[in-house]
Amino acid sequence: CGIVGYIGYRDAYPIIIKGLHRLEYRGYDSAGVALLDKEMRVYKKAGKVSDLEDFVKGIDTSGTIGMGHTRWATHGAPSDRNSHPHSSGDRKLTIIHNGIIENYNVIKEALLGKGHIFKSDTDTEVLIHLVEDIQNETGLDLQEAVRVALNRVIGAYAIVIMSADDPDMVIAARKGSPMVIGVGKGEYFIASDATPIVEYTKNVIYLNDNEIAYIRRDDLLVKTIDNTVQTPYIQKLELQLEM
Ligand code: GLU
Repeated sequence: CGIVGYIGYRDAYPIIIKGLHRLEYRGYDSAGVALLDKEMRVYKKAGKVSDLEDFVKGIDTSGTIGMGHTRWATHGAPSDRNSHPHSSGDRKLTIIHNGIIENYNVIKEALLGKGHIFKSDTDTEVLIHLVEDIQNETGLDLQEAVRVALNRVIGAYAIVIMSADDPDMVIAARKGSPMVIGVGKGEYFIASDATPIVEYTKNVIYLNDNEIAYIRRDDLLVKTIDNTVQTPYIQKLELQLEM
């Protein structure tokens, strides 16, 4: 039920964990993070954000790109394996998602027929396998494959996708679920609402429905899922946060 992402020059993990705590008021049953430097590392657990923190204690959490998720289960019981992030292709492609992919079953059937192996019961995992499948079938780059995949899904989503094959980019998209991008200097923040972002920057972009943001440390490109480039509108946050 909450999303936090970071790409920049600082360690992503503490920013993500703090942000997930700020989003705890929304309610959730599981939590997880993915961190990316040379490789993708995924840690996830049913339970509280603090359970995830305990689980990760002593493990390497370095990485200046990352994303975190709190889950409110809709498809698949709350469990470690159904927690987000979900991956496809040996963790090269990794996703977090809030919302519901309504037509996941038809897509899953088709992908099972092509030999895809699923590790969870979620609708979310189907979407990341679909992206991988589109890349395999068409040779499209990740940006385009995500856009094509989003044109095939029905439902509501806020998603963040990272790939170890494209380790300097984070992709965020939304339809029917909120998503805010915080604009820093050489860094960007992503979250379900502004509360995880406000202590770092007051400059934010509210992503619109059917928009995809391709985010690099010093570059942001926003397109619609119909492939029209958008000029993002940067707003000043008035919000003050109690520390
Ligand atoms: N439908 C997804 C799941 O059940 C995401 C739920 C959420 O919004 O947290 O895993």
